[in-house]
Amino acid sequence: MSHIEPTERTRIRRRPERGHFDRAVIYSILDEALVAHIGVSVDGEPRVIPTAIVRIGDHAYIHGSPNNQLLLTLESGATACITATIVDSIVAGRSGFGMSMDYRSVVIFSKAEKVTDLAAKERIVAAFVADIMPGHIVRPPKTKELNATVFLRFPIEEASAKIRDKGVMDPDEDIALDVWAGVIPLRITPGAPENCRSLRPGIPTPDYAKAYKRPGSVD
Ligand SMILES: Cc1cc2nc3c(=O)[nH]c(=O)nc-3n(C[C@H](O)[C@H](O)[C@H](O)COP(=O)(O)OP(=O)(O)OC[C@H]3O[C@@H](n4cnc5c(N)ncnc54)[C@H](O)[C@@H]3O)c2cc1C
Repeated sequence: MSHIEPTERTRIRRRPERGHFDRAVIYSILDEALVAHIGVSVDGEPRVIPTAIVRIGDHAYIHGSPNNQLLLTLESGATACITATIVDSIVAGRSGFGMSMDYRSVVIFSKAEKVTDLAAKERIVAAFVADIMPGHIVRPPKTKELNATVFLRFPIEEASAKIRDKGVMDPDEDIALDVWAGVIPLRITPGAPENCRSLRPGIPTPDYAKAYKRPGSVD
């Protein structure tokens, strides 16, 4: 299904016109964001932890150490609230309340499933490489590395996206004011690659590193 049906949890109450429930929209935001935040209740206390995330099909994946508190809690069946956010512009209005940001964000509610199959773990590692640095060539993961890492997958079945793309939205009475208002677009600008200090001599910097770009980044 290309559309995700809103639930009582994901129905957008504030500014519902900014809500999107198409998988394509939700996935494009999740794929572009480098970082997700995972919120979970640990012994009744909130935890919101930033982490790398990758999507394969209709699942989102995270991985980490077996004694990672977030992963242990999620493994035990706690519901996760996963968010990813991209800030597209600073919005400078004519009043303090006119200050805002244009953004694209995603909220996913899901329960983790543990991935134990080694071949599946390998595919997830490859997906992380491709997500963080497309084209990067790495050695294959060792079985002991795969065994020593917890991989969790989240079915994406209950999710929402919210997009603000309107720039300045000052009230009519402020438009007459003699002050500047506008937007500052924000993009990720990659720097020049820096060799690892222990890089063996003679290994050239690959083109994919020199030409590194995030979606929406500028040269
Ligand atoms: C960079 C950024 C800056 C923001 N600044 C502000 C601010 O200063 N003040 C403010 O009030 N709001 C701000 N928002 C919007 C904020 O994320 C909430 O949407 C808003 O506060 C409404 O919250 P609520 O709890 O009433 O949401 P509700 O509409 O009650 O949320 C219900 C459901 O809607 C979905 N939902 C809500 N918000 C989002 C979202 N952002 N992305 C995806 N799904 C969502 C979730 O599934 C959620 O469970 C900002 C968002 C971003 C990304």
